[in-house]
Amino acid sequence: MSSAREVKSLLPGTNCRKCGTTCMGFAVRLLSGKAALEECPELEKAEYVAKRLKLRQILAERLAQTPTNFVIHEERCTGCGNCVDACPANVAMSVEVSGGKGGESKELVLKVEDGVVKVLNVKACRRFEEDSSEGRACNVCVESCPYRAIEFV
Ligand code: SF4
Ligand code: SF4
Ligand code: SF4
Repeated sequence: MSSAREVKSLLPGTNCRKCGTTCMGFAVRLLSGKAALEECPELEKAEYVAKRLKLRQILAERLAQTPTNFVIHEERCTGCGNCVDACPANVAMSVEVSGGKGGESKELVLKVEDGVVKVLNVKACRRFEEDSSEGRACNVCVESCPYRAIEFV
């Protein structure tokens, strides 16, 4: 799964600000769905054809992600359930989350299924529709994972 740094490495890197921000700022906006590739006129140049195609591929993959930009690196997740137990939104909804399986409630945010953590109810996540730039965003699941399998991009 792609990080803002990887996306930025595929951008022209001139920081010309024709898109209204820097290349890194544009990379973050692309990944959060707040900008489109067409807003970078530099990318239209022939020398960037290959990079533009790669960027399109990366952004298409992003469509499968949650509105909170929660990314699970499945190859690192062991299904241990630490994040399921620790998620404050989960805990507020179910006392059965201990054990890491997430109880039976369909309202839970995180649950281990088939040995990998899944996002079930993204709307209950404390990051949903929250402006993380104000520093209020929850980061408990990221911090509780010993394998660095969760990332918010
Ligand atoms: S318009 Fe393109 S090259 Fe210029 S700052 Fe934005 S992303 Fe970078
Ligand atoms: S960000 Fe917080 S509320 Fe959202 S899934 Fe992670 S621990 Fe739960
Ligand atoms: S994301 Fe991390 S803490 Fe959560 S189940 Fe997977 S390995 Fe465990």
